[in-house]
Amino acid sequence: MFEKLIQELQRINGTHQISVPIRPDKDGYVDKECPDKKCLFQFKVHEDDWKNIFKEEKVFCPMCRNEAAAKSWFTAGQIKWARQRAKEHIHGMVNNAFIEGARHFNENQPRNSFLKMSMNFTGKPGMKYIVPIAAGQAMELKIACKECSARYAVIGSAFFCPCCGHNSAEETFENAVRKVEAKIQNIELVRTSLLAVSKDAAENTCRSMIETSLNECVVAFQRFNEVSFAKKFPAVNIRMNAFQNLEAGAGYWQQNLGKSYSDWISQTELDELVIYFQRRHLLCHTEGIVDQRYIDNSRDPSYQVGQRVIVKEKDVTHCLRIIQKVIESLKAEL
Ligand SMILES: [Zn+2]
Ligand SMILES: [Zn+2]
Repeated sequence: MFEKLIQELQRINGTHQISVPIRPDKDGYVDKECPDKKCLFQFKVHEDDWKNIFKEEKVFCPMCRNEAAAKSWFTAGQIKWARQRAKEHIHGMVNNAFIEGARHFNENQPRNSFLKMSMNFTGKPGMKYIVPIAAGQAMELKIACKECSARYAVIGSAFFCPCCGHNSAEETFENAVRKVEAKIQNIELVRTSLLAVSKDAAENTCRSMIETSLNECVVAFQRFNEVSFAKKFPAVNIRMNAFQNLEAGAGYWQQNLGKSYSDWISQTELDELVIYFQRRHLLCHTEGIVDQRYIDNSRDPSYQVGQRVIVKEKDVTHCLRIIQKVIESLKAEL
C-alpha cells in the first residue's frame, strides 16, 4: 500500500540532493557572505563571472581576504531560506506519497465486499518546484577587477578582488576620493534642505558630514600606504595603523624606499597635513576636544587645551589635495 512512501523515504535517506535556486538582483549580481565569523562581510558577484571566471577551490573576501572554496560563500539568509524550502520539499514529497498510497488503497477495494473502507489523507500535497531565493538590494559600488575583470559589488569599500585576490588599492583610493568630493559638493544642498526643518538639524548634519569626510581622507591615505608598502616590501613588518601617523609612516618609507613624504610635498603642506591628521584623531577619540597631546603633536598655535576643533569644507578639500599629491608621487615610485 505504501510502496511509494517507502521508496521516497529511501530516496531522501540516500544520495538525493535538493537544490534551491538563487536569483540574481536586477543588475545580475548574486549575494555572497564571507564565511569567517569575525568578518561576515556581505558583497555581490556578477552571476556570469561567478560561473565562468571564479575558481571552485578558492574565493577571496573583498574585505578581509579570507580564502575559502566557492561552496562556502552562501549568506546566512540564503542558508536559512534553503533549509526551510528543503524541509517543505521533503514534507511535500512524503505527503504526496501518502496521498498516492491512499488513492491506491481506495482504488483497490474489493468490489463486492460487504465492508467498505476508504482512506483519506488530509495533509497538503507538495509543490513540484522550489521557490528560488530572492536577491537582496543592489549594491552601489560596482567594481571590475583590473587583473581578472571579475565584476563584484559592495557597500562602502572593498580592498580585494573576490576572484583573484588582487589588492585594489588604487581603485579603492580613487573611490574614496570621489566619495569625499561628492559629499563636500552636496553639503550646501543638504544644509538648505534641512534648514526648512530645523537650524540645529542642518548644522549638526553638515558638521558631521564634513568631519566624517576628513576621517575618510585619512583612512584612504592610510590604506593606500599600507597596501602599497606591503606589496613593495613584503618582508618588512609594519606596526598596526602605522600609516595613520605621518611621522611613523614617513619613517617606514624613508628607511626602505630612501624617500618619503617630504620629497613629494612642501614643508608647509606636510605641516598642514600633520594638523589635519591630528584634528581627525581628536574627532575620533575626544569628540574634537583639544588636549595637550594635540598641541604637542600638531604644533598648531591656533588652539588651546579644552577648545573644540573646527573643520570646514575647504579644510577637507585642501587635505584631500595634499593627500592626492602624495599618492600620485608614491604611485610613480612603486
Ligand atoms: Zn571577510
Ligand atoms: Zn581579480
